[in-house]
Amino acid sequence: MSRTGTLYTVSAPSGAGKTSLVAALIERSNGLRVSVSHTTRSMRPGEHHGVNYHFVEEADFLAMLDRAEFLEHARVFGNLYGTSQVWVEEQLKAGTDVILEIDWQGAQQVKRLRPATRSIFILPPSRETLLQRLNQRGQDDQAIIDKRMAEAVEEISHYVESDFLVVNDDFDQALAELESIICCHRLATDKQRDNLATLLKQLLS
Ligand code: GDP
Ligand code: ADP
Ligand code: 5GP
Repeated sequence: MSRTGTLYTVSAPSGAGKTSLVAALIERSNGLRVSVSHTTRSMRPGEHHGVNYHFVEEADFLAMLDRAEFLEHARVFGNLYGTSQVWVEEQLKAGTDVILEIDWQGAQQVKRLRPATRSIFILPPSRETLLQRLNQRGQDDQAIIDKRMAEAVEEISHYVESDFLVVNDDFDQALAELESIICCHRLATDKQRDNLATLLKQLLS
């Protein structure tokens, strides 16, 4: 029986909480993995190669791009980010659901290539809270925080392109909402038809 996994994109302005939410979601869910992007940005304190990102030099990124190794890529805040095509395809083929934490430009590209992709947008509860979270995270210097706040409006203006909108005010509530999106999609008849093939065959015989 071939069960193809579902591809999800999660986008949000920097600091809205997508990385924390997706990490918590993955921990609680079976059959769901997050793609580790390649990026040319410098590593933050506490980040690790191959865990948060595959950190690469710009020349290496461009060589990968030439070899068409990215499902999508974009320049965000001056750095290059891209999603490994092979890794994503392998997971989906094996029936694993995959989350891409990517910006709106990447989400647009993925939707164009794979229209069945479900896109989720995460909003902060206010501008003030967004700024507070960027400051509290304590990983970016002031110039970088200013740049991310300035670009938040541009990112947020793309909420209209997403299938689901989640406000990350109370963390546990936002997490429960993300879980329900995944759960709901797994209950769709076209997914269940494969999962429940034996039962359906028996009931219909
Ligand atoms: P964060 O927003 O605080 O998580 O900051 P990051 O520096 O980790 O990510 C910066 C931006 O790059 C975010 O908008 C991400 O959604 C985006 N991003 C990360 N990985 C990818 C990727 O593989 N492709 C694309 N297109 N965007 C990515
Ligand atoms: P993003 O990946 O969108 O840039 P992060 O997941 O790094 O955001 O979250 C930014 C900061 O906000 C982190 O310090 C995180 O612990 C904190 N945070 C995330 N969600 C909440 C929430 N609901 N309430 C309070 N703080 C939060
Ligand atoms: P950060 O560098 O703070 O982790 O991420 C900054 C932005 O880059 C975030 O908005 C994040 O979603 C985006 N981003 C991270 N990885 C990718 C990726 O592989 N592709 C795209 N398009 N955006 C990414």
